[in-house]
Amino acid sequence: LLEVKNLKKSFAKTEVLKGIDLKVNRGDVVSILGPSGSGKTTLLRCINFLEKPDGGKLSFDGEDYDLSGISKSDIAAIRKKTGFVFQGYNLFANKNVLENVTLGLTSARKIPKNEADEKALEVLKKVGMDGYTDYYPSQLSGGQQQRVAIARALATDPSIIYFDEPTSALDPQLTSEVLEVMRELADEGMTMIVVTHEMGFAKEVSSHVVFMADGNVVEEGSSADFFDNPKEVRTREFLRLTE
Ligand code: ATP
Repeated sequence: LLEVKNLKKSFAKTEVLKGIDLKVNRGDVVSILGPSGSGKTTLLRCINFLEKPDGGKLSFDGEDYDLSGISKSDIAAIRKKTGFVFQGYNLFANKNVLENVTLGLTSARKIPKNEADEKALEVLKKVGMDGYTDYYPSQLSGGQQQRVAIARALATDPSIIYFDEPTSALDPQLTSEVLEVMRELADEGMTMIVVTHEMGFAKEVSSHVVFMADGNVVEEGSSADFFDNPKEVRTREFLRLTE
C-alpha cells in the first residue's frame, strides 16, 4: 500500500531524517518506536505532507511520487485516502461532535448532509460515541475527544490511518479506552501507522515495529521478533529502559 524510500528532512542544519525506508502492506499495523527526538513525528508529518520532505520517493496505492517535488494535486489525491489522528485532539471547539465528524465530508467532499450524518453516526457508533452527537469538545473527556477524532478519520473510509502519539496526553484510564478502539480497528484489518510510546500496544496489537534513533531506522521486523529477539544493541537498550 505504502512504501517510502530514502526520506530525508532537515530543519536548518540539523538532519532529522537521514534516509528512512518504510514499507506498509494492507492490513499491517506498524508501530514506530524510538527515543524522544528520534524523528518519529517528523516522519509521519512528512508522509502526510504537513512538513515538506527534502528528498525521497513514495509509492502509495500503486502510484509513484518524488517526495521533494510532489504536486498539490498529488498531495490532495493521497490525502483523500489517508486519515490522521494527532496527539492533541484537534477538534473544532465551536462545532459539536456530529459536525466535527461530518465537516470533512460535506465541505471537502461535497457529500449531502443527510448522507454525511448517516456516515458520521456509523463511525461514532464504532468508537462508542454515538450518544454524544450534540456535545461540544469542551464537554468531553480527553479520551472521548480522541475517540471522536478517530471517528472523524474513519468517516472518509481511508486506506490507511496515521496516529501520532494518540494517547500521550491522556491518563491511564482514558489511554486504555482509546487503545481499545484502536485494537478493534486493527482486528477489523484497518491499515495503521502508529507513533507510540505504548509498548503494550506495540507488542500486542501491532504486526510490525520500526525502531528509530537519531533519524535512522535502527531495527524493524515483526512485532514478535522485535520484542522477543531484538538484534541491535540500541534496541535492547531501549527495550530495557522502557520495561
Ligand atoms: P517525541 O517522541 O519526543 O515526540 P520524535 O521522535 O517524534 O520525539 P520529532 O518530533 O520528529 O521526534 O523531532 C525530531 C527532531 O527534530 C527534534 O530534535 C526536534 O527538535 C526537531 N524538530 C521537529 N520539528 C521541528 C521544527 N518544525 N523545526 C525545527 N526543529 C524541529
